[in-house]
Amino acid sequence: DAVFEIDQVSVNYGNFTALRNVSFDILRNEVTALIGPSGCGKSTLLRCLNRMNDLIPGASVGGEIRFNGESIYESDIDPAEVRRRIGMVFQRPNPFQMSIYDNIAFGPRLNGYRGNMDDLVEKSLRRAGLWDEVYKKLKESGTAISGGQQQRLCIARAIAVEPEVLLMDEPCSALDPIATLKIEDLIRELAGQFTIVIVTHNMQQAARVSDKTAFFSVEDGDGDRRAGELVEFA
Ligand code: ADP
Ligand code: ADP
Repeated sequence: DAVFEIDQVSVNYGNFTALRNVSFDILRNEVTALIGPSGCGKSTLLRCLNRMNDLIPGASVGGEIRFNGESIYESDIDPAEVRRRIGMVFQRPNPFQMSIYDNIAFGPRLNGYRGNMDDLVEKSLRRAGLWDEVYKKLKESGTAISGGQQQRLCIARAIAVEPEVLLMDEPCSALDPIATLKIEDLIRELAGQFTIVIVTHNMQQAARVSDKTAFFSVEDGDGDRRAGELVEFA
């Protein structure tokens, strides 16, 4: 059961082709790692999955990406609606400048959530393995906790709106080894509940967390920048 069908996708920034002719499927409730050297287009491809990439001035996306069978680059698709169904976590933890509680409640409030917000906040923090560490300080700022806790808060914030997919762009590379292991464990726990796509340049991490790995490469040119390509998917 494919959540994303990536079909001959190429991405240009102006005249520069960052990614060429990439095709593979991302299966439901699996963890798929995108791996390869710096500059091979991993982040670029990740941003195509929620149509963030076409917000970059000069960026253009060719080919087709189907999300649940529906082509997301058709003119009648609202990119904001696509992004609501796809959560994203970035390299640098970026909690909002508001309380831990409000960080979690922010998305559900925007969506007009009608259930019990206290329960949803607790459940989301528990699912991110953070409740025991923060339940006494829900009114404190989301930016006052450790980096690893901030990243788990960002994951809790993303899952509070029950997205189908979580995109993670190098979610551990700003974290220490212990915080990294906690995030890796969390990714394995969330696998099966969400479809997760994670960008990493760390082979061991890809092996630890992912069901499938897409390997990208970019040729070293003679000074010219080259396009990244998918070399293997297994
Ligand atoms: P990776 O995530 O694998 O490091 P990126 O997707 O960030 O690779 O970048 C792929 C290529 O596209 C690189 O050559 C990078 O410099 C280029 N690139 C990325 N973002 C932009 C942008 N906004 N404008 C122009 N070039 C970009
Ligand atoms: P990463 O390798 O972690 O993706 P980069 O340092 O390559 O990070 O890129 C950081 C940001 O700068 C990204 O948003 C990327 O799109 C943008 N970027 C990368 N390369 C270029 C470029 N050549 N021109 C403009 N923006 C770029």
